[in-house]
Amino acid sequence: MSTVLESQEHQDLRAAVAALGKRFGRDYLTRVTGAGGHPQELWAEAAKLGYLGVNLPDTHGGGGGGIYELAIVLEELGAAGSPLLMMVVSPAICGTVISRFGTEEQKRAWLPGLADGSRTMAFGITEPDAGSNSHRITTTARKEDDGTWVLNGRKVFVSGVDIADATLVVGRTSDARTGKLKPCLFIVERETPGFGRRQIDMELQAPEKQFELTLDEVRLPADALVGDEDAGLLQLFAGLNPERIMTAAFAIGMGRYAVGRAVAYARERTVWKDPIGSHQAIAHPLAQVHIELELARLMMQKAAHLYDAGDDIGAGEAANMAKYAAAEACVRAVDQSVHTLGGNGLTREFGLASLITGSRVARIAPVSREMILNYVSHQSLGLPKSY
Ligand SMILES: Cc1cc2nc3c(=O)[nH]c(=O)nc-3n(C[C@H](O)[C@H](O)[C@H](O)COP(=O)(O)OP(=O)(O)OC[C@H]3O[C@@H](n4cnc5c(N)ncnc54)[C@H](O)[C@@H]3O)c2cc1C
Repeated sequence: MSTVLESQEHQDLRAAVAALGKRFGRDYLTRVTGAGGHPQELWAEAAKLGYLGVNLPDTHGGGGGGIYELAIVLEELGAAGSPLLMMVVSPAICGTVISRFGTEEQKRAWLPGLADGSRTMAFGITEPDAGSNSHRITTTARKEDDGTWVLNGRKVFVSGVDIADATLVVGRTSDARTGKLKPCLFIVERETPGFGRRQIDMELQAPEKQFELTLDEVRLPADALVGDEDAGLLQLFAGLNPERIMTAAFAIGMGRYAVGRAVAYARERTVWKDPIGSHQAIAHPLAQVHIELELARLMMQKAAHLYDAGDDIGAGEAANMAKYAAAEACVRAVDQSVHTLGGNGLTREFGLASLITGSRVARIAPVSREMILNYVSHQSLGLPKSY
């Protein structure tokens, strides 16, 4: 990467994370996933080196950097074959929301742990009957006379709830003045009575599991609410931009890993007189996906710069576009990489086939391809809504 685009510090961070990725690469992640475990050694090492909390405030144990730096970490680990999906939710969404809107006690209770890897937080917004339409979520929070909260509702596809110390749950409270429901964010500790989870049987080879959650009269203290009861939507959006930027980083890293494997194979594999990489039918599609990944990274960098500069609105459009571009580039990159390996593309030994489902995650979550196209149609182009 050119020095004009990225500072020496950023290049050094990339190189250092890539070196960590070499130590804990694809083989490590495959082994851990196969054994049904979690990449705890990598998580702990990344935390120790200051990478996990690089975006969190230095007043609370973080590195004092931004989402730009955190995205570098996730992209480079992904490019080594060992992306840490929980980075998208724990330091990026939850860490951002708490550091921007949490009380001093919440910051002290959570941020140092999120940064040093001793605590992890999941994020739950998706509901079975709402899906992409998050205005339709029905998890409700009732405020009791003593200021405590009672939550009821259901969530689905929430990642990492088993390993997370708590889940940041998006619920709704009714506005005493207007009677309308407004979103609110609550920290729900894992073993809180009434907070149930069931693992969903996913066709994914990843250490992070997805869960269906039930909240049945979950009683929470007053200080479980994060931020201002009346500014829930704003606070929620503050966490969603980092989520999209980090999903872009996840997708770009995975795409780079797949293309790297395919290029190495295409340089060696010879079935006629020259390696298969000399055939343009193999070389050009790989060149295309390489270009698409580079372009997606540029948009991700723009989004991260805007976000870190405090431009939440500008970052919103760029973060959505970056997530879209990166997911599409990743899906195509993985598809072409698998194809480049012929039959070996589908063997466990070469380990690329499992990325076919992995790459689709970035297309559907945290917001689907179609919902981003809707957003750009309406917000950027001013076209009317069909729904
Ligand atoms: C591996 C994985 C991890 C996840 N982790 C989390 C997590 O940690 N926390 C969390 O809260 N959620 C998580 N999710 C959920 C994810 O955010 C949702 O799956 C996603 O938002 C889509 O919702 P849905 O699955 O209900 O699809 P639906 O909303 O039912 O959509 C189905 C299809 O219809 C399309 N569609 C819907 N509405 C429109 C429209 N208006 N116009 C055009 N097309 C439309 C969609 O694009 C999609 O293709 C995860 C999902 C996966 C797969």
